[in-house]
Amino acid sequence: MPRPLYLYNTAARAKELFAPQHDTVGLYCCGPTVYNYAHIGNLRTYIFEDILKRALLSLGYPVRHILNITDVGHLVSDADAGEDKMEKSARKEGKSVWELAAFYTQKFMENLHDLNIVQADLFPKATDHIPQMIAMVRELETRGFTYRTDDGIYFDTTKFPAYGEFARLDPDSIRPGERVAMGAKRSPTDFALWKFSPKSSKRQMEWESPWGVGFPGWHIECSAMSLAYLPQPIDIHAGGSDHVRIHHTNEIAQSEAATGRKFVRFWLHGEFLVIDRAKMAKSGGNFITLDSLKNEHIPPLAYRLFCFSAHYASPLTYSPEGIKGAKASYFNLLRSLAGTSDVADPGDPATNYYPEAIPRILDDFYQAVYDDLNMPKAMAALWEIVHDETIPPGLRRAAAGKADEILGLDLLAGNPQPSLEEFAGISGPIRVYSAGMLTDLQKREIVTKVGERQRARGDKNWAAADSLRQELLQFGAIVKDLSDGSAEVTF
Ligand code: AMP
Ligand code: ZN
Repeated sequence: MPRPLYLYNTAARAKELFAPQHDTVGLYCCGPTVYNYAHIGNLRTYIFEDILKRALLSLGYPVRHILNITDVGHLVSDADAGEDKMEKSARKEGKSVWELAAFYTQKFMENLHDLNIVQADLFPKATDHIPQMIAMVRELETRGFTYRTDDGIYFDTTKFPAYGEFARLDPDSIRPGERVAMGAKRSPTDFALWKFSPKSSKRQMEWESPWGVGFPGWHIECSAMSLAYLPQPIDIHAGGSDHVRIHHTNEIAQSEAATGRKFVRFWLHGEFLVIDRAKMAKSGGNFITLDSLKNEHIPPLAYRLFCFSAHYASPLTYSPEGIKGAKASYFNLLRSLAGTSDVADPGDPATNYYPEAIPRILDDFYQAVYDDLNMPKAMAALWEIVHDETIPPGLRRAAAGKADEILGLDLLAGNPQPSLEEFAGISGPIRVYSAGMLTDLQKREIVTKVGERQRARGDKNWAAADSLRQELLQFGAIVKDLSDGSAEVTF
């Protein structure tokens, strides 16, 4: 029996004891809409999800982690109106929508690598799952949950009596009112499952469907992709807190209406990164990326550490002073732990040193992590280990290394040379940290595809090489072509 893990389940509005529903824990995380760079607020959410995954792995649970890529259908307005964010941004940047998606997906993957986020098992793209989405909408249609307007097929929320329970929506606030854009919808909470392509303009991304040429609604994408890869009920579905009210509420309604079964057991939501009291948003002027931090010589892992200064379910305020403080703490940690190579197992009775302190402090560390991922408390335990001079340095290092399996801060990578800052700074060498987390089959597939791509490049078949690069990205594998003709693959 693993140690108990308690997680705050939004559905229950309470901390609950986690118990998997399947032999392998299914974890679905709502991924980015790839119309722009991810900002560090978005990345805070993926860091929290990474801690969740590492906590599960540390308890011995096998985890199947799906992180989708939204490359179509996310509209500018949550009220199913306005332009598709992808099409709008592509026009602005003078790229095709497909080029735009490929570009920002690659950038997103680089962010995940920089932040030591353990590879998902799969990064499914919405545009690769249109048949599954159409099948789900058909099922909803057969079961009588849909209606047609002149711009699409909508989910009729009045047919799903539990609608809004998840988000504790006040029924008064969801009645038609002046402030709610209704369009041809029968009820303001109804939402698009399939939108028709506009008659006035030509979309770059559109597909045939039983209802007419068009594209899927954003919510159906996550329902279809999560159920395509994970058994129901899905153990854990996670995302940012902005998703509770609409996106996840709608996912629950359509998934449970289509299958007649419970969709998800545990819902976890990360709170926002805020700046000047406002949510950091792609549409706002307060947009900070990981690259812009790197340009300020803030290592990505210092940002990861910064995220541990607040509990994931509390807002975290970004400030230049705060991030500089995190950078100073990060180097302090690396320096404290660097320079001792005698890595001993803290629990190895063969060593002469077996200070009581280490198991006790590590126990506090795990206790904090397994109590709804309380990282500020876990970090306090780590600092205790690092600063306890009664413990031999080698053992401190070994204990910190153990904690780092969850923290993912590369604590033992600290270079004792004076160039430490430079080393831990900018992009650094290739990371292969997550390689161990991939299955042998995935590794084989990646290596085979890189080989195929090298052959395509040798034949000057650039289109095939590009398409293989995209396929590799689905596994989180980033390929870089070196000037001597060789390729570097990071996964
Ligand atoms: P998007 O690419 O906009 O779909 O967002 C990707 C993820 O980031 C979602 O899980 C959002 O809920 C989350 N998110 C958006 N803004 C913030 C923020 N300021 N702080 C933390 N998470 C955010
Ligand atoms: Zn989603």
